[in-house]
Amino acid sequence: MIQISDKRNCCGCTACASICPHKAITMTPDVMGFLYPVVDTSLCVECGLCEKVCQFHEGYDRYANYDIPIVFGCRHKDEAELVRSQSGAAAWAIMQTFLQEPGVVYGVGYESVTHIVHKRATTLEECQEFRGSKYVQSNLRGVFQQVKDDLKAGHRVLFFGTGCQVSGLKSFLPLPLHDNLFVVDIVCHATPSPAFWKAYVQYMEKKYNSTITKVDFRDQTFGWHSHEESFFFSNDKKVSSHIFRSLFYDHLIVRNSCLNCHFTNFKRVSDITLSDFWGWENHYKEWNDNKGVSLFLVNSDKGKQMFDKCQPFLSFIESDIDKCVQPQLQHPAEQPVDYLIVPQLFQEKGFKGVARKYGHIPGKKYYHNKINAYIHQIHLILSRIKHSFS
Ligand SMILES: Cc1cc2nc3c(=O)[nH]c(=O)nc-3n(C[C@H](O)[C@H](O)[C@H](O)COP(=O)(O)OP(=O)(O)OC[C@H]3O[C@@H](n4cnc5c(N)ncnc54)[C@H](O)[C@@H]3O)c2cc1C
Ligand code: SF4
Ligand code: SF4
Ligand code: SF4
Repeated sequence: MIQISDKRNCCGCTACASICPHKAITMTPDVMGFLYPVVDTSLCVECGLCEKVCQFHEGYDRYANYDIPIVFGCRHKDEAELVRSQSGAAAWAIMQTFLQEPGVVYGVGYESVTHIVHKRATTLEECQEFRGSKYVQSNLRGVFQQVKDDLKAGHRVLFFGTGCQVSGLKSFLPLPLHDNLFVVDIVCHATPSPAFWKAYVQYMEKKYNSTITKVDFRDQTFGWHSHEESFFFSNDKKVSSHIFRSLFYDHLIVRNSCLNCHFTNFKRVSDITLSDFWGWENHYKEWNDNKGVSLFLVNSDKGKQMFDKCQPFLSFIESDIDKCVQPQLQHPAEQPVDYLIVPQLFQEKGFKGVARKYGHIPGKKYYHNKINAYIHQIHLILSRIKHSFS
């Protein structure tokens, strides 16, 4: 039976819990809200299926996929769509293409502003919610079984997720059901903590004395290169901040397995991989307006067919591997020195305690850093003045 002795070795994909024929596995949250499988030994019959299905290791299965993907930079032909998506709206173009025929789409949306979940959709209207990156690990809550039921019922299924989620899903589904399954993964830096996100939303609601009705994890109105999270309150106020983004980029609130991720390379598990095409402006003169460009990796024959069908919606420029390399396609996120103390700090002092300690909301350290920065600036100015008189 599956036992998690080292959190670095479990990405929380739910494949083990979904496959257990005796329902002996419950996905259980830790302090940060990340889910891990816990086995009820009184129900377990030691069949070993849960260990067999787990794909979170270096030898993960990527049968039927190309050794080297075909690389494109792309953007939605309707530029009005860009502001509602995260990069070049490639994911939206795939949804539009896929739903030209009846089918089922699974993507990441909201149960509420504090609960980021995978959801099922059959219309483009329902898919709207999937647009935009939610920088929190989504709760898969029984979705693998739902996908299986849909495929068994003969539906075409399009599934969006991180590399580890897609890998877990493919391993869980019996091979004959793969024919009608189409999978897209995103290049993934790491996924931040659901519990920390919830505590942040509650902090903002208290601070601004109003209920948050909508969030935008990376508000495109500031431009594609910017990363500010925006909160929309019931009193019509909008507040933007980068507290969460900063702690995410510091890798302090991300899942442990992300620091040991096996999918940060070009051996993709999906038919198509999407991401921001960072560094685009260094190689091409088109689309350099800070509105967003998607990286579109075609990884399989199925991916190639989808690419061809997407052409009415997307403009493409063929590129190559050397031009699109980014850290998340080379190695996992690095573990910061303080990583292991954050859960305890969060448990004891909550959201504010963590954000204060790392200087992202006003506290002693915040003011100390600010004063030091001002002193540094004054020194610089004085030395320049001195230099210009000498
Ligand atoms: C946690 C996370 C980390 C990322 N890290 C990087 C990175 O390091 N480098 C990079 O270039 N790009 C990264 N991306 C991808 C990038 O932000 C865009 O999501 C991607 O380029 C698709 O943009 P789009 O305009 O085509 O899609 P959109 O139209 O914006 O659609 C977004 C798609 O992403 C899916 N999605 C949203 N949130 C999640 C989630 N939490 N988990 C799984 N799937 C989700 C939705 O289901 C939808 O299909 C990351 C995304 C997430 C969610
Ligand atoms: S990685 Fe997935 S299959 Fe493996 S133990 Fe974790 S939840 Fe289970
Ligand atoms: S060994 Fe079999 S019965 Fe036991 S938890 Fe794993 S899948 Fe379930
Ligand atoms: S970084 Fe890797 S382990 Fe973490 S969510 Fe992304 S794909 Fe999964």
